[in-house]
Amino acid sequence: MSAGFTICRPLLENVPEGAPGWTLTTCPYCGRDCWKHPSEPDPLPPGYQAACTPCALKRMTRQRAMDAKLAELGVDLRTDVDGVTFD
Ligand SMILES: [Zn+2]
Repeated sequence: MSAGFTICRPLLENVPEGAPGWTLTTCPYCGRDCWKHPSEPDPLPPGYQAACTPCALKRMTRQRAMDAKLAELGVDLRTDVDGVTFD
């Protein structure tokens, strides 16, 4: 099961200067200032989120733990009721 993709945005406190084309924005999860890369689609496609790097890592870690628990329980949410697998 995948909750989608999380795009990592570097924190302003880690990269104070940014880079050409980067836009300062706010992490929707922790509210800290972070950089949006110019290649990031706006709006984000369905299934995508963007977060500062620490929040993105937390989300991925939590997702892996949830996937492991679901696998332990024999649940595969990639398979819908017709038996079609999707990612
Ligand atoms: Zn954050």
